[in-house]
This record gives sequence, C-alpha cells and structure tokens, in this order.
Amino acid sequence: GLPPYDEGNIFARILRGEIPARKVLENDHALAFHDIAPQAPVHVLVIPKGPYVSVSDFSEKAAPEAVAGFWRSVAETARKLGLQDGGFRVLSNMGHHAGQEVPHFHVHVFGGAPLGPMLA
Ligand code: 5GP
Repeated sequence: GLPPYDEGNIFARILRGEIPARKVLENDHALAFHDIAPQAPVHVLVIPKGPYVSVSDFSEKAAPEAVAGFWRSVAETARKLGLQDGGFRVLSNMGHHAGQEVPHFHVHVFGGAPLGPMLA
C-alpha cells in the first residue's frame, strides 16, 4: 500500500501552479502535461485534480463523474497530441513493486512511434 495523500508531492505543486509544467490539456477533472524525462517520442502524464495517491485510491474513492471525466480527458489528450490514428499506450504505476515515484495518481501516455511489446 501507500501512505495517505501528501499535499506537498510534486504533482500537487504542479496543480497549484507552484511548479511549471508543459500543459497539454486542463479541465475540471484532469491536467495533462509532458513528462520531464520522456521515455518515448511523446510521453505525457494525466492526473486527476483530486487528492488520490494511486489508481486504486482513485478507483475506490472518486465520484463516478470524476472517474468518467478523468478517462475522457486521457482520450482527449491522446487525440490532441495526434496519437489517435497511430495508437498509444496508457500505463499507471501503483506502489512499490511498480516503482511509483510520485504519490499522486497519474497515467502515462506514450506514443509517437512503435513502442515495442512493453516499456521496462
Ligand atoms: P512514476 O514512476 O511515479 O509512475 O512516474 C513519475 C513520472 O513523473 C516520471 O516519468 C518522471 O519523469 C515524472 N516527473 C517527476 N517529476 C516531474 C516534474 O517535476 N515535472 C514533470 N513534468 N514530470 C515529472
């Protein structure tokens, strides 16, 4: 498992505008921005605006409209980046075994070129 939500985590600071980010999309439910250390030609992170530590936390606690709004924002982000035709990959690391670094739920969106079977 993971500890309770930490308001000082780096993505919370990006949401509050305390740290800059290259934004792709922002609405009531989500913020999408480019990863600082891209692992594919296009590598974007999409985060919900609420205080959720992980995909499990989000799925258990977020209101249905927030969950729908978040996933629609993931799809809209991919469309905005021109990834819809070529395809893309969505991934979320949860907890220790997955190597989750930032304790605010996020999904990675990878694309822009053939990605191979999996990213390490
Ligand atoms: P995780 O390992 O938690 O799934 O992924 C965290 C991701 O956040 C990593 O891909 C890392 O490069 C990215 N990241 C960490 N700090 C920052 C930051 O300050 N700005 C941005 N744009 N990305 C960050």
